[in-house]
Amino acid sequence: MTSNAELHDAAQQLMPGGVNSPVRAFGSVGGTPVQMVAGDGPYLTDAEGRRYVDLVGSWGPALLGHRHPAVIEAVHTAVDAGLGFGTSHPSEAQLAELVRGRVPGAEMIRMVSTGTEATMTAIRLARGATGRNLVVKFAGCYHGHSDGLLAAAGSGVATLGLPGSAGVTQAQASETIVIDYNDRSALEQVFAEHGENIAAVITEATPANMGVVPPEEGFNAFIREITSRHGALMIFDEVMTGFRITDAGYWGASGREEGWEPDLFTFGKVIGGGLPTAALAGRREVMEHLAPTGPVYHAGTLSGNPVAMAAGVATLEYATADVYSHIDQKAQVVADALTSALSDAGVDHTIQKVGSLFSVAFGTSATGVHNYAQAGAQEAFRFGPFFHSMLEQGVYLPPSVFEAWFLSGAHDDAAVGTILDALPAAAQAAAQ
Ligand code: PLP
Repeated sequence: MTSNAELHDAAQQLMPGGVNSPVRAFGSVGGTPVQMVAGDGPYLTDAEGRRYVDLVGSWGPALLGHRHPAVIEAVHTAVDAGLGFGTSHPSEAQLAELVRGRVPGAEMIRMVSTGTEATMTAIRLARGATGRNLVVKFAGCYHGHSDGLLAAAGSGVATLGLPGSAGVTQAQASETIVIDYNDRSALEQVFAEHGENIAAVITEATPANMGVVPPEEGFNAFIREITSRHGALMIFDEVMTGFRITDAGYWGASGREEGWEPDLFTFGKVIGGGLPTAALAGRREVMEHLAPTGPVYHAGTLSGNPVAMAAGVATLEYATADVYSHIDQKAQVVADALTSALSDAGVDHTIQKVGSLFSVAFGTSATGVHNYAQAGAQEAFRFGPFFHSMLEQGVYLPPSVFEAWFLSGAHDDAAVGTILDALPAAAQAAAQ
């Protein structure tokens, strides 16, 4: 049997860092990345035959767990009919209808292949529809890796974005204004200074890429109000939260506050059921600016791929209210056990949680975590030992303290029991 280490060594010769997405390289937790070869329900199995309870869920898509029979059957049926035709086909509209049925405000939908493509296209659409250039984003919100959205946090109010990656030009970054999350006065100031040039504010419905950071009460509604007042669009990035967070209605985080809709949504992860599909959606009048009805170009060889559509349709059809209440309940059990174990071990922390999405932030109980600066100031060094203790005990966590933990409809009492049994020793490891 080839070991994880041998496979990783070989992969490093072929792929930068041995990976196709950086967080998989275990950079922030150290050690050798695990090579998974199979998933079943709440479990993953690595190349050495070790089984883990999975709390990554393929970074979100595996809402029903791995290899859900209905999803696998739908995919097999679609594969048997051919892998793709480069034409329209009925399952595109089926998935679009399922999204529209659950998301008031998603009047029209365009399928794409990744969340990155969804947000990138939403930005282009917002610029095309408004004739304005500037985009406002919040520090610590991740919207995929298109150039302008990699502009990182500048400190202070209305800092014109600095490139967040080599290869992003200053010109691209300078059209993205980065401000602190949950900061209404920063938003007021940005609009006071640049209001006539702002095409859109993009925000995660509930940020979950700096750890989970709940929006303060009314913050999303405030973004809606100020964008409307200035003729800018609001883009609600629900790639992570869409069809996962269930506080009010089980289609996404935006259902948490009533009485308003964003202009545009982006979705991904769950709507592809584990295959590469994402979408942008929104008001008809805005969406019709997209080609071919409008002048804003977007296209994709694999957009609306029938196999991916089949996985998405099956996933949304099986994501019933019962599944969501199961996931919410198990997430609460794990979050409660996590906080008890850390408290018993004397580790200062906060559990950052919205619906079933949660993460831990070490050493932050004095302030909580309301923005990127506070997330970054935590005792992140405690996470590596915590992570490796969990891994040794058969629990696969996201290999970064800034990622949310994902439960699924397949996490039964046995899987949750394994997690609970592992937490005390991991908390002790974090205490050191
Ligand atoms: N937007 C959010 C909120 C995300 O969490 C992610 C990915 O994690 C993306 C966009 C980008 O999606 P993808 O990785 O499919 O390009």
